[in-house]
Order: sequence, then C-alpha cells, then structure tokens
Amino acid sequence: MSLTNYSTPLNPSASPGTWLGVMGGGQLGRMFAHAAQQMGFKVAVLEPALDCPASHAADQLHSADYTDAAALVKLAEQCVAVTTEFENVSAKSLAFLAERTFVAPSAACVSIAQDRMEEKRFFIECATTSGVFPASHKEITCAADVDAVPDDLLPGILKTVRMGYDGKGQVRVKTRAELHSAYAGMNGVACVLEKMLPLAYEISVLAARGADGKAVVYPIAENVHRDGILFATTVPGPHISKASAEKAQAATLAVIEQLGYVGVLCIEFFVLTDGSLVVNEMAPRPHNSGHYTIDACVTSQFAQQARAMARLPLGDVRQHSPAAMLNILGDIWFEGASDEAREPAWDQVLALPGANLHLYGKDTARRARKMGHITFVAATLEEAQANLHKACAILGIAP
Ligand code: ADP
Ligand code: MG
Repeated sequence: MSLTNYSTPLNPSASPGTWLGVMGGGQLGRMFAHAAQQMGFKVAVLEPALDCPASHAADQLHSADYTDAAALVKLAEQCVAVTTEFENVSAKSLAFLAERTFVAPSAACVSIAQDRMEEKRFFIECATTSGVFPASHKEITCAADVDAVPDDLLPGILKTVRMGYDGKGQVRVKTRAELHSAYAGMNGVACVLEKMLPLAYEISVLAARGADGKAVVYPIAENVHRDGILFATTVPGPHISKASAEKAQAATLAVIEQLGYVGVLCIEFFVLTDGSLVVNEMAPRPHNSGHYTIDACVTSQFAQQARAMARLPLGDVRQHSPAAMLNILGDIWFEGASDEAREPAWDQVLALPGANLHLYGKDTARRARKMGHITFVAATLEEAQANLHKACAILGIAP
C-alpha cells in the first residue's frame, strides 16, 4: 500500500527565496524557521497564538485557527510547500492545503501517527519488511472490552488512542480492577491497553525521505524520560549493539518507505531486557530527541525538513561530534519546590566546554514546560555526558 497522496503534481524543486509554510508555532516551528532562513527561504507560520515561539523567528505569522479556510488558502497561495510541526494538526486541513500546494508529510501519513491504533496496525503491516512489532495490546472502547482483556496484558499501560504526548493520557494499571477505574477516568474516549514491557532502555531513530524516494537515517539516539517527558538524549546510543542499531535503522527505513513519506520522521523503539526490539510510536515531524542534530550533525533535522519540502537533495546525516542533550523545563526558574522565581545560572552553564544553549523564547516559565535544551558536544561521549551532569548540578536538576 502506498500512502503517497499528492493532489498537486511534483513541481521542480523550489528555490531558496520562496516561502515555506508551517502549521504550528511552537519551538519546532521556531527551529525550523531558523534552519530554513539560513538557506534563504522565507517562512510563514499558521498558529492561533500571537506570542508563540515561532512568531519571533518567522517572516510572517498568520494568526488563525488551524482549520480557518481563508487562512489556509492564504498560506497555500504564499508557500511552495507546507509542513506541520505538531502531529495533532487537523489532517483535514493538511488535505485542504494539499489541493493547493505541496504538503509534506502528507495528511494520510500524519493521520496514522495521530491514532495509536492506526499506528500499531501500520507497524504490524510493515513488520514483514521491518522485522519489528509493537507491544501486545488491545483496543478498549467500552467496559466490556476491559473484561475481554487477556490476563497476559496485565500489568499494562492504558493510553488514549488520540492526543497523547509527553506521558499525558496514560495510566499504569496492575489489575483488571485498576484497569476498569482507569478506563472510567478516560471520559469515554477510545483507549488502548499495552502490555507493560521490561525496558532495558529507549531509543529513537530519525530519518528523512525526499520526494524522489531517497531516504536517509541518522544514528541511534538513546533517550531517558522523567515523568513521561524526555529528560536527556545521548548520541550515539551508548548501550545498543551494532546489530540492533542496524536493525532499528533498517526498520525505520522500511516504515518510511512503506508510508511513501516525504519529510522528517522519528520512530521510538524500546530495547527490552532480553535485547529484543519493539516499536513504540512515530512522530511525523522533527523530534525532541533529534535536536542534537543542530550542533552535532552535518545537516540538522530542521534543515533536512526544509530540503525535503523544497524537493532539494537531502543533506549528509553524518554526526561529527558525540552529543548529549539536556531538556530544559520551566522548573529551573523556581527555587527548589517553592514558587519563588530565579534566573538559571546561564553564565556557569555556558562556561562548560561544548555547551550549546537553545532557549525557545517563551515568556512564562511553568513547571514541566519545555523552555529549551542544551546540547553538549565533545570529542568523546563520556566528556559530553560529564558536562551534561555538571550542567544538572549548576541548574539544580537531579542528575
Ligand atoms: P508519549 O506519546 O506520551 O510519548 P509513549 O507511548 O511514548 O507516549 O509513552 C511514554 C513513555 O512511557 C515511554 O517513553 C516509555 O518510557 C513508557 N512506556 C510506554 N509504553 C510502554 C510499555 N508498553 N511498556 C513499558 N513502558 C512503556
Ligand atoms: Mg513517546
């Protein structure tokens, strides 16, 4: 099955100087704007909020709802290509845009990633070529489904099928009774129960595919999450074997090919304690775990997205420095657990060798809000990790 769904024929590649559009004005849109502008493109962002991270970087902000037909027409007429920086954008809006301009990734690809059941069905469909399966699971859309859950799926994690991110919309359950009450708390939305797997560690694989069908894959990133939010990413992944790394990269390329995808895609995998690989979920866009590519790779994930949209050749994915990335959440703008505000000691952090600070221009710091990240590059991975730990000590983050 090919999901390639261009309503417009493939035009010749777009030249720098033309406009690229983004649905969404968060930090991913902001970093995309920086990269695309570096290549000479102009960037238009469609987003309802006026003071969003990308608004300070984009050449033009269309402040409108994501489903506003007039704003979508304006964006499509202005831009040679449009992408999305968040996966919960209305797929209908992407399809509407695709009748007027080139959209990458396509609405069909984004729709699959928006729905955990669709995504798992697609991963299973790909398994003949990818060799990797998702966790055992069962869809839950009524109380009777809870009764029909095989014992083997418990303990498990109940996840909403749609709109989940950063661990939101998830409840861990040990027993069927806990599953009943967790499902009752989900307000009737469709859910999926996944078997709780024994994770050794988590990885993500970033890839990109051009409109010409050529695909590239970045090195394996190893991710540590805290409270459901990405805490740190280390690349190349320190624990993965060469064989598993190659398997995960090949699986990612198999999925991106089968999707007929154009643009940057990131797939999250679990590596289990027995060494086996399980596919978790995919993001149809640049990914938090790929931010290290800005400072440590020849072509960043954002520059790669601009190239794919403009139907220019994809760039070299070679990593030139080992890297350790630390996410910066709003918590560090507060004294300990109190409400007392403070300014993080950036002078001390930036004195660390190989530190690259990225702040997203968000005015208000809130606990658990992604405010920025720091990528440490060094001659060795150990050195990059040591500097990340020093930064944690300076910023008051538990290492
Ligand atoms: P999100 O969309 O919030 O990132 P994920 O499905 O990636 O949702 O789940 C968030 C985190 O929860 C994962 O990174 C992993 O640490 C843990 N997790 C999710 N599913 C499982 C599972 N089946 N078994 C064990 N841990 C899991
Ligand atoms: Mg995830």
